[in-house]
Amino acid sequence: MKIRSINPTTNGTIGEIDASTPKEIHKKVQDAHVAQEKWLSLGVKGRVKILENVLEKLENRLEEIGEISTKSMGMPSSLRGVLDLEAGIEYFRWYLENAEKYLDSEISYEDETTVNTVYYEPIGVAAVISPWNFPFCTFVWQVVPNLIVGNPVVFKGASECVLVVKLIEDIIATSKLPKGVFSEIYGGGDVGEILIHEDIDLICFTGSTMVGKHISSIASDKLIKALLELGGSAPAIVFEDADIKKVTETVFFNRFANSGQICDGLKRLIVHKDIAKKIEQALVEMIQSKKVGNPEDETVEIGPLVSKKQADALEVQVNDAIAKKARVLIGGDKLKNLSEAFFEPTILANVTKDMKIWSEETFGPVLPIMTFETEDEALALANDTEYGLGGYILTENRERAQRVAAKLKTGMISVNGTLYLHPSSPFGGYKRSGIGREHGKYGFHELCQIKVVATEK
Ligand code: NAP
Repeated sequence: MKIRSINPTTNGTIGEIDASTPKEIHKKVQDAHVAQEKWLSLGVKGRVKILENVLEKLENRLEEIGEISTKSMGMPSSLRGVLDLEAGIEYFRWYLENAEKYLDSEISYEDETTVNTVYYEPIGVAAVISPWNFPFCTFVWQVVPNLIVGNPVVFKGASECVLVVKLIEDIIATSKLPKGVFSEIYGGGDVGEILIHEDIDLICFTGSTMVGKHISSIASDKLIKALLELGGSAPAIVFEDADIKKVTETVFFNRFANSGQICDGLKRLIVHKDIAKKIEQALVEMIQSKKVGNPEDETVEIGPLVSKKQADALEVQVNDAIAKKARVLIGGDKLKNLSEAFFEPTILANVTKDMKIWSEETFGPVLPIMTFETEDEALALANDTEYGLGGYILTENRERAQRVAAKLKTGMISVNGTLYLHPSSPFGGYKRSGIGREHGKYGFHELCQIKVVATEK
């Protein structure tokens, strides 16, 4: 069977790849097991040295990776550097520079007669499954720390980005990475499912909550660990003293960049009623100043969604809101004259909790707004979701920001648009947004067996 890659901007086929067969998948998992011993024997230092060579090879061909990503999933070329490529390189470098520090053994207890030493050991062969929304960054986030700690990886990228991950595989094949330590398989969810039924020791899955739940049930049956980075519906609470410029910049970037297809992106705006009108107007003006269109045009900031299917799903959510009397401030429909994967940047007011646009994760350029009068009311609205990935607070009152941050049930919180994304900071969610954390010492340790050895003094 062939996996076809479709350009969402033109609806044309960019290329195709043979889907992996069950036999090929089995062989790659077996090869990963065989490769592990030698890979482990290199120690963290030796593995980092080889991965420095992988980084160099990828860095030399970053533009090629970016170009094929834009064609495959529509991320504007004006943004892919900062959103995906440079970010991926920054994380890769940080992991390499900090691995030894966080994977070194440490003493957890000591008295006159005994020393307890903690060792971070690999778990084994990891099945890594990723989505399409940040093709390079997600690959780096999920694969590199596994390789550093000593877990060989069999990787399945999303079908939409099959040509991106194939290019990454080809580039890595020119590096000094030993055979079997990293390999890729190709195909849809069925192929991913074959992989997780194989003899693997760990699953690292990034994707939707629905698929994550299914994968978690298979992992629990096998009694192996599943690290799950899932969906989100991040609230932003805007208090009456917020700086309007900070609000519009934060909301625009975190809701409309990558056409709204960001897991921890800002998906529900909760504004104090006294400044709601001003914020609405500023956001509408901001959107009017942006160019929507072909993502290969450097002046375009908003491209298509990843596929017609994704735009159709968004249309259902928006139409449900409009039928329930939401007020369209701008947008509200698919874009005319462009492919069916384009949706107008949209803002909806008069939103109520029974609308899909509020209660479900929205993966597109659509912002629903609700208003509040008291802090408790704002928090209740913000926490009224099954998700708990990102959260945003906008206020000039630092005490209030701290108080609200402590009550927001999300794994990551940005105050006034400051970035929580840094390779040293944990990334992950509360509730149905996932289990476990990526990055920093937290991310390394998630991928390890943690052993304690007690010895006499
Ligand atoms: P998805 O449909 O869950 O797919 C994710 C990956 O899982 C793809 O590679 C997919 O393959 C594969 N897959 C699907 N069914 C499977 C199965 N039964 N067994 C094994 N693998 C299976 O998610 P998506 O639409 O690609 O991505 C969007 C979602 O990801 C959103 O909910 C977003 O919030 C979430 N996300 C979360 C994070 C995070 O860090 N928390 C980051 C990015 C995205 P195919 O696509 O080839 O079918």
